[in-house]
Amino acid sequence: MARRKLLFGNWKMNKTIAESKAFAKESKKLLKLATAKGVDIGVAPVYLSLETVRKTNPKLTVAAENCHFEDHGAFTGEISIPMLKEIGIDWVIIGHSERRTYFAETSETCNKKLLALQANNMTPIYCVGETLKEFEAKKTKKVIEEQVKVGLKGLDAAYVAKSVIAYEPVWSIGTGKNASKEIAEDICSYIRKLVDKLYGNVSKNVRILYGGSVKPENVHAYLLEKDVDGALVGGASLKVDSFKALIENI
Ligand code: PEP
Repeated sequence: MARRKLLFGNWKMNKTIAESKAFAKESKKLLKLATAKGVDIGVAPVYLSLETVRKTNPKLTVAAENCHFEDHGAFTGEISIPMLKEIGIDWVIIGHSERRTYFAETSETCNKKLLALQANNMTPIYCVGETLKEFEAKKTKKVIEEQVKVGLKGLDAAYVAKSVIAYEPVWSIGTGKNASKEIAEDICSYIRKLVDKLYGNVSKNVRILYGGSVKPENVHAYLLEKDVDGALVGGASLKVDSFKALIENI
């Protein structure tokens, strides 16, 4: 079965509840356009806006930007998976580079979160990617290998098949310095090979996204690549018009 293209907006720490609601209302038109194009779309708002966005457009895929791996306990400021499930959220971004950089997230903690999501039958968008220093030292594949191997450790093949992995070179996130389509394809196909080594045939089903300064002007080029199944988009996903242009240009 062909892998459906996926365009996902990561809103980071942007948009109030009211602003998220306004986008969610407009997203009904975006969803129509995406469906006509055969593309799946979704957004990841801040925790506070999740329920509002989901209720405003119940057909839109809505992801949390993070979660804790424990169900409850003494983890001040954290949100657990049962809390997300209670408000109907079943997708979560795991291991975004901003979480790895600013909140000491490691492949080990990502693994705990992925295992907990698997136990709850929720879909992850697992982010991997190298820093500029690692890129310049030609360590990209080594870094990716560790993030994929450790992050996905112990998951079932059937679960991996339904999961989404996003290759996001840290040096390209929010910098306007997007990776070339050749780099994106090289690393996305490398990730698919790693998944194949670890889990076999399901590698054909895993959707692998590119993320890093994707804009309406460059989205098409990435999505033409064989192993790039979509994009995780930050800045260009915040405005309805820009999200619309991303869908139109795929
Ligand atoms: C992101 O936040 O995952 C991202 C890729 O951001 P941007 O598109 O702004 O580079």
